[in-house]
Amino acid sequence: MHEYSIVMALIEQCESLAKQHKANSIVRVDIKVGILSGVEPCLLEQAFMTFKLDSLCANALLNMQIQPLIIQCHQCEKQSEQSQRTVLCPHCGSADTQIIDGEDMMLMQLEMDT
Ligand SMILES: [Zn+2]
Repeated sequence: MHEYSIVMALIEQCESLAKQHKANSIVRVDIKVGILSGVEPCLLEQAFMTFKLDSLCANALLNMQIQPLIIQCHQCEKQSEQSQRTVLCPHCGSADTQIIDGEDMMLMQLEMDT
């Protein structure tokens, strides 16, 4: 499953950060999940619960923040938060837009215990 490999990479990332900071365990993992990332939050959480047991994240809480789609319009220069999965500018209807946020999943913050 897609979410399994994402979670494995996430936990590896957490562990290497914990090692850098000489932490013994990870208390909280804050991530941002873009609505266009293709990640299903429920599945991600389930995968995290499964894989964390063998890692420094064993007692960690996963704190997920859903990131809406943000686009920048090149026609009217306005930035907007999209309630739907469309890249059309809601102000002028242009398709000449750029995605600013909401496309990926990112580790935002770690709370560690030393
Ligand atoms: Zn526009």
